[in-house]
Amino acid sequence: MRIGVLALQGAFDVHAAMLRQLGATAVLIRKPSELHDPEGRPTLDGLIIPGGESTTFLKHLERDGFFDALNTFVRSTPTFGTCAGCILLADDVQHPPQRSFAALDISVERNAYGRQIDSAILSAPTSLPGGPLEMVFIRAPRITRTGPAVETLAERNGCPVLVRQGHLLAATFHPELSTDTRIHQLFLNLIRGQQTNLIQDQQTDQPTNQQTSPRYP
Ligand code: GLN
Repeated sequence: MRIGVLALQGAFDVHAAMLRQLGATAVLIRKPSELHDPEGRPTLDGLIIPGGESTTFLKHLERDGFFDALNTFVRSTPTFGTCAGCILLADDVQHPPQRSFAALDISVERNAYGRQIDSAILSAPTSLPGGPLEMVFIRAPRITRTGPAVETLAERNGCPVLVRQGHLLAATFHPELSTDTRIHQLFLNLIRGQQTNLIQDQQTDQPTNQQTSPRYP
């Protein structure tokens, strides 16, 4: 499996190392042209948008049509956003309002935990098998609203911190900074599941051979 890690800033190397540990091929993405082959076909099975500073990401993404290319990409290909990456995927960003891909039906408030406790390592319950998760929060956003299609997989004091909507996964913390690989494994499983759906969709489509359906619903 070939997974891109957006490598404009932030902890991209640690994500790449964790993906490799799980047997995936990690590719650092620095240009919009690296999202597709010259014929426009996707070269990646999934993408991680790491933590960092979302305003800095937005500045980098202003050049070479990178924002628009990613905006299209995240609507059709599995993408996992952590912290600043979660902010970029969110439908609505506050504190202050900010541009985003608006692909994931959540609202987020940036730097929402206040100065004194803005960074913390906590252990919190999760619906993932294997017991509580260690969560490293660094100037984290708070998810203040989730849409009906969004599933909450872990919470901090009653607020969602790990969510999934179809082919999109987002965490307000930094799973790459813990040794627990369950969340990266979850992302790889999600991709496999989506690919299985795709194969099933194609098989269902075969008899009628109608229009090509989108890669991921
Ligand atoms: N505070 C950052 C932002 O608003 C996110 C912090 C992080 O990614 N660790 O973009």
